[in-house]
Amino acid sequence: MLIETSLLIALVAAGTLMSGVAGTILAGVLATIAVLYRSLRLTRQFSDLTEDVVRATSIDRNHRLDPTGPAELTRLARAVNRLVDRVADDIIEDTAERIRLASILDSMREGVVVVDDEGVIESANPAAVEMLGTVGEVEPGMQLTSLTNHPDVIRVVKMSIETEQQTAAEIELFDNRRTLMAMAAPYPRPDTDVVRALLLLTDLTDIRRLDITRREFVSNASHELRTPLAGIRASAETLQHGAIDDSEDRDQFLTMIREDVEHMDMLITEMLELSRLESGESEMKFLDVAPQKLVEAAMKQFSAVAVDSELELVANISPDLPPVSVDAEKIDHVFTNLISNAVKWTPAEGTITVKAWADDGTVWFSVEDTGLGIDPEHLPHIFERFFKTDPARSQPGTGLGLSIARHIVDAHGGVISATSSVGEGSEFAFTVPGIQP
Ligand code: ADP
Repeated sequence: MLIETSLLIALVAAGTLMSGVAGTILAGVLATIAVLYRSLRLTRQFSDLTEDVVRATSIDRNHRLDPTGPAELTRLARAVNRLVDRVADDIIEDTAERIRLASILDSMREGVVVVDDEGVIESANPAAVEMLGTVGEVEPGMQLTSLTNHPDVIRVVKMSIETEQQTAAEIELFDNRRTLMAMAAPYPRPDTDVVRALLLLTDLTDIRRLDITRREFVSNASHELRTPLAGIRASAETLQHGAIDDSEDRDQFLTMIREDVEHMDMLITEMLELSRLESGESEMKFLDVAPQKLVEAAMKQFSAVAVDSELELVANISPDLPPVSVDAEKIDHVFTNLISNAVKWTPAEGTITVKAWADDGTVWFSVEDTGLGIDPEHLPHIFERFFKTDPARSQPGTGLGLSIARHIVDAHGGVISATSSVGEGSEFAFTVPGIQP
């Protein structure tokens, strides 16, 4: 407006100076026309500017205002452009943050669910859906009951909202045999006093299972050690009560003591080995070995035993087997366990066949016997620690040999399995990955 006023004054002054009153009037008219023209232009520029602002802020977020024209409008356009740029940056950052958070939630092993005070799910990550074994889609806006009907989960969520305190419960899901820790914490909504709940689900199944296994191991180990100890005590007491004076009795009880001590020694050795294998402490020394070498070495140890037990020991090795990368000593241990079991459970005149063959890049070994066989009811438990079939309870043996064999085969990336038919015999087969030429 300053420009228009100074222009008006200048025009009127010039008209007055040049042509008196008539000049003054003419100059006044001209000045008014000029001011009107300028203000019309300004109005149009303002209206263009308004349209641009609307476009840049709502229709086309990439659109920017044209910073040309009168100085004030240029400054305004630049300021608006800067503002729009800043808002655009904030939106990009906000979106990136949301995507980052969503991908963290998606890849978490823990289940995370946000539930409002009406029991409506605001968000639930895939782990929560999987852990709770939910059938069907779960979308934000659904009730918590569409995710789970477990009363304890619903209770911890409710309690944390009502008391505004963290609440937790360990829950058992019988359908998918899982143990979960459900912990709900109050999670206030920003700028309001409405409290939501953040439910965190942690899977305790493996920890609980390990705990049970450990307790079972300790209890089984104590039981197994107590049996030879009781034998030693009984023999010692019998000796004390007079048997020591009879040379025949003395020899018999001393032999029993030695056998019990040997059994305890074997138990402790095997328990330590199993524990080393389970904890991964047992170091594997992998070397490339020809499969027939492994079979021959194992069979050599049993040739005399087989003759003593009147058993035929046969090797059946496919030609041209690829070499295998194994810890030969550990694989020998597997063979020793399998062949000694076969010897133990095969009556005289039976046959034990040790085989090796390749199938699709995998090398297979097996020990087959024509022995008593294993009851189908016992077969699924044969690789469990301390497991012995009923007839084996009266026989020497720790019940750990097959469990150790399974761990060694596992550590080689292979599998071990057993097939058996009562009265006909059993076959224990295991794999190790072959080395491709
Ligand atoms: P053990 O020290 O008792 O031999 P293992 O873990 O080697 O322990 O074997 C577990 C049980 O599996 C044995 O006690 C026996 O009952 C059964 N078993 C293993 N191998 C054979 C086999 N070849 N024939 C029949 N039963 C077997």
